[in-house]
Amino acid sequence: MNKVVKFGGSSLASAEQFKKVGKIISDDKDRHFVVPSAPGKRFSKDKKVTDMLYSCYANVTGKGGLEKMDAELADIKARYTEIIEGLSLKLSLDDEFKTIRENFVKKAGKDYAASRGEYLNGIIMADYLGYEFIDAAEVIKFKADGEFDSELTNKVLSEKLKTCVNAVIPGFYGSLPDGTIKTFSRGGSDITGSIVARACHADVYENWTDVSGFLIADPRVIENPEVIETITYRELRELSYMGAGVLHEDAIFPVRREGIPINIRNTNSPSDGGTWIVESTCQKSKYTITGIAGRKGFCSINIEKDMMNAEVGFGRKVLQAFEDSGISFEHMPSGIDTMTVFVHQDEFMDKEQQVVSAIHRLADPDTIEIEADLALIAVVGRGMKSTRGTAGRIFSALAHADVNVKMIDQGSSELNIIIGVDNKDFEAAIKAIYDIFVVARL
Ligand code: ASP
Repeated sequence: MNKVVKFGGSSLASAEQFKKVGKIISDDKDRHFVVPSAPGKRFSKDKKVTDMLYSCYANVTGKGGLEKMDAELADIKARYTEIIEGLSLKLSLDDEFKTIRENFVKKAGKDYAASRGEYLNGIIMADYLGYEFIDAAEVIKFKADGEFDSELTNKVLSEKLKTCVNAVIPGFYGSLPDGTIKTFSRGGSDITGSIVARACHADVYENWTDVSGFLIADPRVIENPEVIETITYRELRELSYMGAGVLHEDAIFPVRREGIPINIRNTNSPSDGGTWIVESTCQKSKYTITGIAGRKGFCSINIEKDMMNAEVGFGRKVLQAFEDSGISFEHMPSGIDTMTVFVHQDEFMDKEQQVVSAIHRLADPDTIEIEADLALIAVVGRGMKSTRGTAGRIFSALAHADVNVKMIDQGSSELNIIIGVDNKDFEAAIKAIYDIFVVARL
């Protein structure tokens, strides 16, 4: 067995957390490759080292100046020193910090600055575990235009990994062809972990964080929701409103193409099984639905035109109006002579009149009506396909909860039902659906 393990910032925020991680790794000899994030928050008002690095580097390019940079760099160094001393390691990062300072002064770039969080944590982790350290700059490759070079990376990285038994590869960054450091977007260590798992044909990619997996519903809406045991990649995509903060969206792709499962685990509760994210499974989910997720703050633009259904190209012209203003749409249910486009309200607001006049100009509709303050809720489950009456149960639960349904959209995959309600009904709607499927287990 070969397992790739990625640990998030909260799992590595202090020496105490490092010790938990060390125990998790030594408990299972199959955990050969480790991908660490930078130290995260130790308590809620604390700062993540990545944020400290961005702020520290901003002094070089902005107002603060070198004196402020040095003060902030000293605070960052203190975070690492605390970890090194707490682990009783004989490691010194003095030379590393000297080099980092020199490179900051030379304006090595904000990506370089941010990447040092993972780089230094990787050095400590390798020393603590007695694993080899592989600088991600040597094995994670970007193209000159900044796009991730998946094929080159896979080639270079898999060759490198063949030569070592156990290694630490810091997350979040790699390098451009000229050697300049480049990072993924925030939370990108998840992507590195997935890339490493692909390159070494891992049996599983374990992603260790501070929750015991994905929850069936948002804990801010449902008290103590249950954990999802198994979810498919497609279900997870449909629930993308939910995963925010647990797993970077782009982390799915490298492992997905190799059929490697992801297991979300909790560093603070390692005996919990967590959530398995798999390509396909014959395991029935415990309930008809796998999860419920939603978000407030949408607008609907309802476009009417007589004989719309017979007009070739109408939909394209309407969507052109959104595209020209740089607005992406979320859903687009349609009727015979109506078409509704759902967009994010905050993105749309400033450009609303521009879009409306563009629709008139391009598609010549009869009327356009805009409605604001809507919420979308996705009810997702592979189990829905084989169960009759799921939609019926959802809508009778909503009616009992006095929630008015404004929009319904079910894809032909039968994997999800999307429901539009007023923002004010959002919580009541989620509660009603959770109760009927999970609490009452219907
Ligand atoms: N340290 C980086 C961040 O805070 C990357 C990561 O943790 O995945 O975004």
